[in-house]
Amino acid sequence: MLENHMELSFSSISQNEGFARTAVAAFVTQLNPTIEELTDIRTAVSEAVTNAIVHGYRNRPDCMVHIRCSICGAEVEITIEDIGCGIADVELAMQPFYTTMPDLERSGMGFAVMEAFMDSVVVESKVGKGTRIIMKKHIMAVRQDA
Ligand code: ATP
Ligand code: MG
Repeated sequence: MLENHMELSFSSISQNEGFARTAVAAFVTQLNPTIEELTDIRTAVSEAVTNAIVHGYRNRPDCMVHIRCSICGAEVEITIEDIGCGIADVELAMQPFYTTMPDLERSGMGFAVMEAFMDSVVVESKVGKGTRIIMKKHIMAVRQDA
C-alpha cells in the first residue's frame, strides 16, 4: 500500500492561502483524484488555513502555519496547525453561521464547508496553545482511464 508524507510551514500571511491549497492539491494529485475531489480538498484547506491566519494568529505575519499531509492507500489525511490563540468552545465555533468576526464580512461557514467537503474533520484546540484541524478524505478507486 502506498504511503507518502509531506510537511509544509509558511508565514501567516493571506498570500500564502493560495500557495497552501495548491501545494496540497499537487501532492494529492498522485492518487488521480477527480476534479471534484481535488476542488473539495483545495476548498477545505483554504478554509482551515484562512482560519489559522485570521483567527489563530490574528494576522501576525511573524507566526508560522504548519501543514502535514499523508497518503495511505486511497486515504488522504491533512493536518493544519497554528500555535495561536486557540478556541474556547470548539463545539460552538463549529456551528454554522457562528463567527467572532461578523463585522469583517465573515459568514461563520468555514467549519461547515470543511465538514461538507471532507469525510471527517476533527478539531483539537487549547486556549493560548493553538489549534489543530485533522481532515480526512477517501479518494475513490483508481479509475480505468488513469
Ligand atoms: P468564514 O470562515 O465564513 O469566513 P469564520 O472564519 O468566522 O467565517 P469558521 O471558519 O466556521 O467561520 O470559524 C468559526 C469561528 O471559530 C471563528 O469565527 C473563530 O472564532 C473560531 N476559529 C476558527 N478557527 C480558529 C483558529 N484556528 N484559531 C482560533 N479561533 C478559530
Ligand atoms: Mg473561517
